[in-house]
Amino acid sequence: MFWAVCGAAVCLAGWAGTPERWSRISSEDVQADSGLSALGHSVVKGDHWVHLDAGDFVGHSDLESSVREALTQAQFFRRRLNNTLPSEETRLQLFVISDSRNWDKSLHSVDGRQDALAAQYRDEIFVFWDTNNLAADAVRLAHELVHGRLQSCRPNLPVWLEEGLAGYLGWEMASAYRHSRGQELFRKLPPVSGRDIVSMQELTAMTAYPDDPALARRLYRQSEEWIRQLAVRIGNDRLREFVHAVCREGMLWNDVLRDRFGYSDQDFSALEDEVREQLQGGRER
Ligand SMILES: [Zn+2]
Repeated sequence: MFWAVCGAAVCLAGWAGTPERWSRISSEDVQADSGLSALGHSVVKGDHWVHLDAGDFVGHSDLESSVREALTQAQFFRRRLNNTLPSEETRLQLFVISDSRNWDKSLHSVDGRQDALAAQYRDEIFVFWDTNNLAADAVRLAHELVHGRLQSCRPNLPVWLEEGLAGYLGWEMASAYRHSRGQELFRKLPPVSGRDIVSMQELTAMTAYPDDPALARRLYRQSEEWIRQLAVRIGNDRLREFVHAVCREGMLWNDVLRDRFGYSDQDFSALEDEVREQLQGGRER
């Protein structure tokens, strides 16, 4: 996938003007915090880490500018998320890792996927923070925050629905953030060949992430497109209603569309056709 930002000052979305109310926490206090997981403790070992308490988030990083930018974004995303998903008061721990050696050391072994650049575990979010690509950072962080919110609301969402919502809402939130900084988020998605597109029936039957990285990428792409086309059809206001029903009320996604939105078999087919067409066309946005 190709990431880019339209506009010049790519690296200017910095932390000038971030609130002074954020307070520092000492490394000793963080190490003594029994609420952190073993992974959290091991990641921040050493005295070069910066820890900031921003109220709704606690940020930890190997680079001060990174944690400030990440906390600014996280607070923006939380406000947006409150409009879409049931809000929760959980205080999240953000581990913002800028040094690739620190990332490799701490996260690859845990996740097991060599290409993973973010992970979420209970109330802890770990993100690799590339200071040369703040646009990609924003997308990653937004995506993980959606996961965090979904899991606090309904931990057992179907894989495609969880990834589709994280992909779609995460992208929309990151776009809004970049827009608020006078920059547009852009990506070029290559067309997907028809034979690589799995049917909605197959997609919704998946109960685990595929081991094959190519298949996993297809799952992400297709799930996001599915939610995007649903949002195009019903509008973002009703998408919120859809999310509440599957998340808070525990309804099955297709029952929501049938019972609450009056979807017929033809509507489901038309939606699937549209998703297929969009995937085959590729797109820039
Ligand atoms: Zn995800």
